[in-house]
Amino acid sequence: MTRSAEIIDKTNSLGASNYLPLPVVLARGEGVWVWDVEGNKYMDMLSAYSAMSHGHRHPKIIAALKEQADRLTLTSRAFHCDLLGEFYERVVKLTGLPRVLPMNTGAEAVETALKAARKWGEKVKGVPAEQGRIICCQNNFHGRTITIITFSTEQAYRDGFGPFTPGFDIVEYGNAGALSDAITDNTVAFLVEPIQGEAGILMPPAGYLKEAHEICKERNVLLLADEIQTGLGRTGRMFCCEHDDVLPEVIIMGKAMGGGVLPVSAVAATEEVMGVFQPGHHGSTFGGNPLAAAVGIAALDVLVDEELVDRAAARGDYLMDKLTSIASPHIAEIRGKGLLVGIDLKPEAGGARRFCEALQAEGILAKETHDSVIRLAPPLTITEDELDWAMERVAKVLN
Ligand SMILES: *Cc1c(COP(=O)(O)O)cnc(C)c1O
Repeated sequence: MTRSAEIIDKTNSLGASNYLPLPVVLARGEGVWVWDVEGNKYMDMLSAYSAMSHGHRHPKIIAALKEQADRLTLTSRAFHCDLLGEFYERVVKLTGLPRVLPMNTGAEAVETALKAARKWGEKVKGVPAEQGRIICCQNNFHGRTITIITFSTEQAYRDGFGPFTPGFDIVEYGNAGALSDAITDNTVAFLVEPIQGEAGILMPPAGYLKEAHEICKERNVLLLADEIQTGLGRTGRMFCCEHDDVLPEVIIMGKAMGGGVLPVSAVAATEEVMGVFQPGHHGSTFGGNPLAAAVGIAALDVLVDEELVDRAAARGDYLMDKLTSIASPHIAEIRGKGLLVGIDLKPEAGGARRFCEALQAEGILAKETHDSVIRLAPPLTITEDELDWAMERVAKVLN
């Protein structure tokens, strides 16, 4: 038995079976590359679902982590820590929103935004107590808590986990008219992904977010943009909403905010929305901890200093050119923005999983999403040479 097989065996026999990983056991990473326990080298084309935008073990982020680990790691929010304000300062500057609330995982940040929206509905908009409703989209992905899966339309995410949380309505994604029709006097917010990543890199029509935001503003409804996957440069803009020239009332961030080393998430919002939170209303033991603040600061500084947002835009165009020139009988559509790209395969191709396994054999790690889509989302630090290397192999596997 190989070392990998032994490790996989142990992991599978002791752990819950809630994932189906590719059969590769990783032991080391650097930049866009990872190595398995046998020493085989792979290019990481998944980037931990966009959490690894800076590449593996970015030296400035690891240095910040180590330095902070030698100084102070956790205080809880019962006390101040010396770095949190500096972290906020960067988030405010990058989002254009004046207030920040730090959490850890994406799902926690989404829950935070939902709580803020409900409370804003009651205390500011004047919706009767416990009557506030939030509109979400078909095929959404916002995380895995019970409240969040309440408004999932994916059977596998919901089955057996009820009873669910009341107060959510579902509309078709990309259809501003449907949003308008669904709004009532009790609607407090519209929660949306600028591109639906987990649904298979689904892109709304151009101008959708702009139109949705206009409708929301007209009806006094908050726009909550879930930029956990699309934000922080992934699509070639700092936030994907910027493609539509939209500044939402609430932006939800996570994943790449942790620089690929720690869970760091945050909600940024207007004064009016964030103002609903007073001491005791909401919290998190680890949210905004010193280690997370140090890593978050480094992660955001690297994005800016190394111009990763512009690089994502340029490399994204380059990747799209290369991909669209692949003549494969299996490809139905290629779509994406920046370095968030999906290769949608025809039904007769037999699913994306077998192509991901073939890519693994060629030295590329990618993951299927929703059966028929191969997701390509490399670290934003990837070079043109590295993309060339990858595209040769992608072309081979698709042919
Ligand atoms: C990953 C993701 C989440 C959930 O983040 P976790 O850190 O896994 O809780 C929420 N929304 C979107 C759009 C995501 O991609």
